[in-house]
Amino acid sequence: MSSVYIKTYGCQMNERDSEQVAAMFLAGGYSFANSELEADVVLINTCSVREKAELKALGKMGMLCSQSVDRPWVVFGFMGCMVQSKARELFETVPRLDVVTGTHCYHRVFPLCDSLLKQRLASAVHSPLRKGAQLCEVEDLPDAHNRIRDHLPARTSCSAFVSIMQGCEMRCSYCIVPYTRGAERSRPAADILDEVRRLVDSGVKEITLLGQIVNRYGREEPVIDGRSGFVRLLEMVHEVDGLERLRFTSPHPIGFREDLVRAFSYLPKLCSHIHFPMQSGSDRILQLMRRPYKQQKYVELCEAMRVARPDLAITTDIIVGFPGETQEDYLLTKAAVEQIKFDNAFIFQYSPRRGTPAADMPDQVCLREKEARNHDLLDTVNRIAIARNRALVGTQQVILVDGPSKTNPNRLQGRTSQNKPVIIEQGIAKVGELLPVTIRECTGFTLYGAV
Ligand code: SF4
Repeated sequence: MSSVYIKTYGCQMNERDSEQVAAMFLAGGYSFANSELEADVVLINTCSVREKAELKALGKMGMLCSQSVDRPWVVFGFMGCMVQSKARELFETVPRLDVVTGTHCYHRVFPLCDSLLKQRLASAVHSPLRKGAQLCEVEDLPDAHNRIRDHLPARTSCSAFVSIMQGCEMRCSYCIVPYTRGAERSRPAADILDEVRRLVDSGVKEITLLGQIVNRYGREEPVIDGRSGFVRLLEMVHEVDGLERLRFTSPHPIGFREDLVRAFSYLPKLCSHIHFPMQSGSDRILQLMRRPYKQQKYVELCEAMRVARPDLAITTDIIVGFPGETQEDYLLTKAAVEQIKFDNAFIFQYSPRRGTPAADMPDQVCLREKEARNHDLLDTVNRIAIARNRALVGTQQVILVDGPSKTNPNRLQGRTSQNKPVIIEQGIAKVGELLPVTIRECTGFTLYGAV
């Protein structure tokens, strides 16, 4: 039996795409290789958001190609965002590469790789390494999603991502995504519901709806009884029998209206967590970033959501060292973190992406300054995160047990509604079980619970 290995970099959207491609290989009779060095098809799903992620993917592919000189039939492929921005360059950088497929044609990955592998295995001499190299760059079929949807495998996990839309039209000045994932396209609600029902029937308890700006889902639809297309979709998914938890990511302050805030007050399956990118606490920098909201609006939305759902955990993304960011701008960001008291934040040092407007902006911040701001902000974020976790010690939380602990396989890990990982002893619960636990201890990131 032939085998496949898929390495994924980047966001949940990529994880979800890899999962679907993997499902097509399984349906086609492949197994998952125990290691990347044993696979007949090696795929890397790439991310373009940061230069480091691109370099990692290229380095990994280069290393795998050089380690397989005695296995010339192996098919190597790149998928995902990096392909959209530099498809042809990849063939020059990695001469051993066979297949390159962009974000709009995942449904082509399996047939391309499979036919190439079969040709090579059927050939007596495995020599023409690059013969048949394939590029599928920008094909965008409206029903591409449905073509791969039918190949979802039996679930081993109790949580799943469901992509509800693709693309983004915001054009933040630092971001490559609009160039790699194209214009916004929402999936029909009936397709999404069908996929959610299938997942729940296969044992999934928790669904996360995914979109680049998830709350812009269905924005071409009329507002009905004060509820947008996205809120109506949340309500419909919420009604699916057997579904226990519902999440969505990532929202944008633009288009985040009162009906969505209110949803936290009347949809009990909607979890008490939101990942809500702030990016900067300075209006001047937000404007340079082309993020069309003011810091005050962002704060008001956080406050309104906490009124609708008092135990809501809020996490965020912040960029430090954006071109033109002065110390005063940075201190406004730090003040916003202190004011909002995030449960956690992903802090990124700005890194220029070729082809984005910010890469050519004047007043680029030097590396030393970016690092200093990054460390300083991280200290603040961690101090607040620990305080917020400590407030949970002694409380009872319901966790969804999702598997062995990542740091200690002899223990189990679950997540609270606030999406905080909780470590518990082995043997007291099964994967997929919703379990009430008492929080005994914590760090800034993890809680420790007992039944
Ligand atoms: S909203 Fe901005 S940061 Fe997010 S994907 Fe769109 S352009 Fe990129």
